[in-house]
Amino acid sequence: MLQDVLPPKPTDLTDELNRDLTELAKNHRRRQLKSVRPVKRPQIILNGKPVIDFSSNNYLGFAQQPALITAAIQATEHYGTGTGGARLIGGTLDLHLELEEKLKAFKDTEAALVFNSGYQANVGLMTALADRHDYILMDRYSHASLVDGAIQSRAKLTRYHHLDLNHLETLLQKAPQSTKKLIVTDTVFSVDGDTAPLQALYAIAEKYNTWLILDEAHATGLFGDQKRSGLWETTGIGAAPRVIQIGTFSKALGSFGAYIAGSQPVIQTLVQKARSFIYSTALPPGVIAANTAAIDLLISDPAHTQKLWQNVEYFKKTCQTQGIKLTLQTPIIPWHTGEDKKALEAAEKLLAEGYYIQPIRPPTVPEGTSRLRITLTAPHTQDQIQNLIKTLS
Ligand SMILES: *Cc1c(COP(=O)(O)O)cnc(C)c1O
Repeated sequence: MLQDVLPPKPTDLTDELNRDLTELAKNHRRRQLKSVRPVKRPQIILNGKPVIDFSSNNYLGFAQQPALITAAIQATEHYGTGTGGARLIGGTLDLHLELEEKLKAFKDTEAALVFNSGYQANVGLMTALADRHDYILMDRYSHASLVDGAIQSRAKLTRYHHLDLNHLETLLQKAPQSTKKLIVTDTVFSVDGDTAPLQALYAIAEKYNTWLILDEAHATGLFGDQKRSGLWETTGIGAAPRVIQIGTFSKALGSFGAYIAGSQPVIQTLVQKARSFIYSTALPPGVIAANTAAIDLLISDPAHTQKLWQNVEYFKKTCQTQGIKLTLQTPIIPWHTGEDKKALEAAEKLLAEGYYIQPIRPPTVPEGTSRLRITLTAPHTQDQIQNLIKTLS
């Protein structure tokens, strides 16, 4: 009897973890870290083996661009490697403020604020804007960081069916009229690369007087006619007080960190209330300088974006001539396999053939809908793409 109430021995504690890990492995769901060493992107050395990387979000190849590298080196030489403080406590360099000025112009908003990562931006935004009295209505396929932020905010979180605006409206009608509401969505969805209908979402936000929060992580640098600042730019609506945009420097812009762009009151509120902004050391000078250089390069040289979209077109055309049906709106290509095990096996076979592609499995996607997530980047050559499609089919 006494045994039942004794706390578990340390060995039992680790046994329990090992049991869970074994269970994950049995279900083909145990994730592994792999060592990557870039040779000449998209060529990498993965766990010691040379392969072509078709899994990176470095869509424009900016992470290897001399303009960004030089900016990072120079800023590091002038300012050192760290900022030594949070943004409100001595960590705000002139470089941060310059970047935020640039972002304002880039996004056509009243103000912008740099965060240390997209994850921290989303958690900071949700918790600063919503509390337990409020309603958050989120697309079911939105990024995990938006979900985590919503949960931390303690607002009433409901997730509408993916891209189903009728469902969204039904939920909005059920929520009390006088409460604050946030509609939240990715603009380009990170797993399948499909896009949200922003004009229709904006009309709904106006009709129900809600905030509209757009995560442009996978759209920044790719979409937008003039500046390629994201999918919102393509709506032509421009700055709207109820619209808040999140973007990252970590994907197409080839660096690290994130930003939130919106009205002055929104940004000022974040400075006062976003805990992930307040209680974290400011990004280092090298990173900030690379981010500024990335925006400059994006605007001054459209060749990188053009090359990427040419590669997307080439992938589409090559699939068509081989009778493979695909709808492609972005450089993110879902290749469906169904079962978990099949996705894993396909990824392993592709790796043996020299292609690195991520299998996407539950809990990231629903049961029975596992897939390969292929991403195209500007540095990929047509030969590399053609050979991949041959191997895939
Ligand atoms: C990658 C991603 C994030 C997180 O950004 P990090 O800078 O990597 O933390 C947030 N939202 C979406 C939609 C993303 O794809």
